[in-house]
Amino acid sequence: MTSVLAVEVDVYSQIALFQCSRCNWSQELLHLKVLRRLEQHASRASVTHAWCSDQVRVVLAERVASQQELARERTMIEEVRAGADEDDLVEVPTLEWLDEQIRWRARRVGPAKCLECGSTRITPEQNRPGDPSPTIEHPGCGGSLRAIGLRYAPGEATAVVIDANGHLLD
Ligand SMILES: [Zn+2]
Ligand SMILES: [Zn+2]
Repeated sequence: MTSVLAVEVDVYSQIALFQCSRCNWSQELLHLKVLRRLEQHASRASVTHAWCSDQVRVVLAERVASQQELARERTMIEEVRAGADEDDLVEVPTLEWLDEQIRWRARRVGPAKCLECGSTRITPEQNRPGDPSPTIEHPGCGGSLRAIGLRYAPGEATAVVIDANGHLLD
């Protein structure tokens, strides 16, 4: 199953270690909690690992799913929720959250942005057939960048808030 929720809600305060399959490049990336300010409140935003061409590194970036993807996701989640106990649904998005995402997506202007610098020159990680985890092509190298581990970083937990079109708010 391909979920629009590339990074789940409680992974912030973890640091991912990325390595290249071909060269000796490696990088750590702090997972931030990303909230999007909507009409009444701030709501968790879907994010993904991506290559930022402006910063030349792996970053967290917005995940702006298409309206069709969100509609498919809602149908799938509705079925999952109908057939499961409440205890098993802690990590499953609520239909209220998905409906809010669908309303937001209909008004969204512009492509997904890097959550560090605001660049739209980003390449999200991708799931390739037969590969258990997503990768990002290492530009100029041809290798694949992959998160090979996660460690907890208590005390480093931090959040960023963005507006509906992905601009960072103070
Ligand atoms: Zn490389
Ligand atoms: Zn960037």
